[in-house]
Amino acid sequence: MTGKGKPFTDETLLPDELADWPLEQPFLLHACCGPCMAAPARQFLEEGRSFVSLFYNPNIHPAVEHERRKEYFLKLATQLGLTALAESSSDEEPWVNWAGSREDRCRMCYSRRLDKSAARTAELGLRAFTTTLLISPWQDQELLLACGRQAGARHRVRFLYRDMRPLYRPGQQLAREAGLYRQRYCGCLPSIDDSRFSEQIKEELKALQAAEPR
Ligand code: SF4
Repeated sequence: MTGKGKPFTDETLLPDELADWPLEQPFLLHACCGPCMAAPARQFLEEGRSFVSLFYNPNIHPAVEHERRKEYFLKLATQLGLTALAESSSDEEPWVNWAGSREDRCRMCYSRRLDKSAARTAELGLRAFTTTLLISPWQDQELLLACGRQAGARHRVRFLYRDMRPLYRPGQQLAREAGLYRQRYCGCLPSIDDSRFSEQIKEELKALQAAEPR
């Protein structure tokens, strides 16, 4: 969510590159959260693909929220029998102290997550990766594509583009059925203020933090 408060255009940017990716070639799926992974993961399994899912999202703040989204990512991965890695911790500083524009902040955020995903793809001996961020009508597909391509080039792996937005609503329904927590803000602290539920979110987070063992 680049925090603009309204969805981006529905125009498809490119042909479906995943459709051309050989079924026998595994890839890495960067997952921003369980609900956004539900429909793409189900679709990939139905297509007979094999993939490793990676939760790497230091942009999720505060730490209790990061842990909550990670927990539901792992819950879904277990339900679907996926190979899952969860390798981030919440890191507020670069987002809270961001001095540039909101668009540049989201560029930094996408780049950081996709760079790590591309690096892990290479380390795991895989040749390609993609991201569930592509399912969200609230994210900037064009920026995601550019950041994914750059990260892929840096680590000599391929970024596979698929416009996953048609799966957004079915994915939310799957997430509901799977009993997953569905967040109402993108992730970083500034994005809480962009949500129309900001006051409720702040109250809920305060309660979660108060309930944390000390
Ligand atoms: S978490 Fe914040 S910086 Fe990252 S994409 Fe969402 S709104 Fe942009």
